Amino acid sequence: MTHTRVLIIGSGPAGLTAAIYTGRAQLHPLVIEGEPSSTTDQPGGQLMLTTDIENFPGFPEALTGPELMARMREQAVRFGAELRTTKVQRLDTTTRPFRAWLTGDEEPSVSADTVILATGAKSLMMNVPGEERLLSHGLSTCATCDGFFFRGHDIAVVGGGDSALEEALFLTRFATSVTVVHRRDALRASKIMQERAFANDKITFAWNSQVLEVLGDDRVSGLRLRDTHSGEERVLDVTGVFVAIGHVPNTALVQDDLDLEEKGYVRTGLGSYTSIDGLFAAGDVQDHVYRQAVTSAGSGCVAAIDAERWLEAQGL
Ligand code: NAP
Repeated sequence: MTHTRVLIIGSGPAGLTAAIYTGRAQLHPLVIEGEPSSTTDQPGGQLMLTTDIENFPGFPEALTGPELMARMREQAVRFGAELRTTKVQRLDTTTRPFRAWLTGDEEPSVSADTVILATGAKSLMMNVPGEERLLSHGLSTCATCDGFFFRGHDIAVVGGGDSALEEALFLTRFATSVTVVHRRDALRASKIMQERAFANDKITFAWNSQVLEVLGDDRVSGLRLRDTHSGEERVLDVTGVFVAIGHVPNTALVQDDLDLEEKGYVRTGLGSYTSIDGLFAAGDVQDHVYRQAVTSAGSGCVAAIDAERWLEAQGL
């Protein structure tokens, strides 16, 4: 069994920033970066699904999500992080050192003095034909990331919660029109967001509309919708689709042991401390509010410093 002082689970901006910091602190972190299992689940996290990133400070000329993750990875390796392309299947946090089982191993293969959990969150998807194929080709799950590229487009936002309306309002800065496609005739979003959306001339609503298919060959060209009352089908002509039907944090490894918030995100107290001594959480797995590459990287830095100080205090 390999022993490491810092085990980092996840290789999005939070995990890799934690690796850079703990690497520079000579802690030789081991990063379990995940393994590609589908288009929406791969090492590098959600940024691997993003096209150009223009709001990560320090890159005025923009770079792609995969490019940014490749650079962070290279930087982590430069400071001595070991990265393994596999998944943690099971994590035992009941005794210390913690123990982790990796893909295909019956026995635990890693023991760790500290764990930084940076497993991220994933957007809920509609699971309809065309969706996976057109992801990043006119279909996105993040208006802040991709909205700018839809200047002058007619766009649909799917969902009826605060996220959907927030995305819709944000997208009106760029789009010619935004249609909020909702499966019911009443929104789940807060009253204030509803009022703002109703007051915006660019926003219209497709009520009682279920998305059956995302249309388009190599770019989105429309949505096939079904009226949930009449059963009638129609095509909504749009060249951009934003799916905003919620996120789920990736907490499967810890959900029985760790204190989670009502919405399922890891509860962190000061900095990255969790309810388990020696286990720290960073990035989207503990943040349902900001969810940006830069905030995620920042929280990875916080977790690294917390872990480093915790190890020192334990004399490890
Ligand atoms: P949410 O509140 O759970 O809303 C998800 C929406 O997507 C609901 O309207 C739901 O429809 C719809 N939906 C779910 N699955 C669907 C499917 N398979 N197909 C079509 N539609 C589907 O999620 P959220 O909007 O991401 O918000 C999450 C939390 O963050 C909320 O507590 C929210 O208040 C908070 N938040 C706050 C702000 C803000 O205050 N500015 C911004 C963003 C998020 P139904 O209504 O029919 O269930």
